[in-house]
Amino acid sequence: MRVVFADLKRQYDSYAPEYEEAALRVLHSGWYILGNELREFEEAFADFMGAKYCVGVGNGQDALILALRALGIGVGDEVIVPSNTYIASVLGITENGATPVFVEPDCFYNMDPTKVEEAITPRTRAILPVHLYGQACQMEAICQIARKHDLPIVEDCAQAHGATFHGTYVGTWGTIGCFSMYPTKPLGALGDGGALLTDDPDLALRLQMLRNYGGVKKYINQIEGRNSRLDELQAAILQIGLRHLDEGNAYRSHIAEAYLRGICNPHIRLPKTRKGSCNVWHIFPILCRTRDHLQAWLLEHEIYTLCHYPIPPHLQECYRRLGYQEGDYPQAETYARQELSLPIYVGMPEEEVTYVIETVNAYPGEANE
Ligand SMILES: *Cc1c(COP(=O)(O)O)cnc(C)c1O
Repeated sequence: MRVVFADLKRQYDSYAPEYEEAALRVLHSGWYILGNELREFEEAFADFMGAKYCVGVGNGQDALILALRALGIGVGDEVIVPSNTYIASVLGITENGATPVFVEPDCFYNMDPTKVEEAITPRTRAILPVHLYGQACQMEAICQIARKHDLPIVEDCAQAHGATFHGTYVGTWGTIGCFSMYPTKPLGALGDGGALLTDDPDLALRLQMLRNYGGVKKYINQIEGRNSRLDELQAAILQIGLRHLDEGNAYRSHIAEAYLRGICNPHIRLPKTRKGSCNVWHIFPILCRTRDHLQAWLLEHEIYTLCHYPIPPHLQECYRRLGYQEGDYPQAETYARQELSLPIYVGMPEEEVTYVIETVNAYPGEANE
């Protein structure tokens, strides 16, 4: 049996008639940027999440960049970010000329809230937690620290659409929530897309200007903005995706439960979910000391896996100027060496899930370990 890591065609096929109706509606409308589809998606997404405002943008990376820019963060400022995250979270900081200050993860792969306070300096301007792999961070503790130090929180929710902490959606705990609608994400477009949530009307207006050359009225530029808009076609597709978000999250959770129940191999550590944190399982991360060997072994059995992520941001070549070296963030580095992501996606057939469980359980470990 061949098990691919993800199959977007299967997800597309599940909702094909709806997608096609929406796409044709936009194609026939003659209006492709900043129109009714975007307005309707923004309203629906804000409503769903329980936020006052939603601003659609071109992608998740731009959401992060513009969120920090709207807060006035730039050169000389520091932003606290987990040491184990996708590079985009950190690029959101450095694109604005600000400096990332890394905080090590806890055993749930998320920013360890007990280590946040010691990372705060007089230059700190924001805290940027990432709800990695689909699991909500300990937002109560992070919010408490932010309030105490009067710092805004920018949440990176790119992997966690629909995840909650103590029943409240991620993306609404902080000052601004940033989402990616990249096709594989829990709420994915059929192309690039992104969105921001906030309850602050001034920030919402600033974000609307920043995504559109710095103005909301054509040819009136109040601030220096850029071009980053969620187009009508993607906005129409995302309205459908939003209607099926809970269903998709439930589908992956069902697979995750099967993995958690079924996988039992002394060479492998299964992911843990924090009490009170909802996990929408964008990724199913396991740990294995002989990760590369396990990955090759699974591939021999035609199971395709990925590592999220093999090199932590502080050791990436692009950040050599920051002067970090191996050993600076040992927890992130351990995860980078040991993490392996098993296939988990909407439309994944049950027999493939069973095959993954059986094959992972049969993994004998590396002979000379
Ligand atoms: C995908 C992702 C992003 C970036 O989103 P894009 O839409 O690809 O630009 C940012 N942060 C995290 C954690 C992500 O997984």
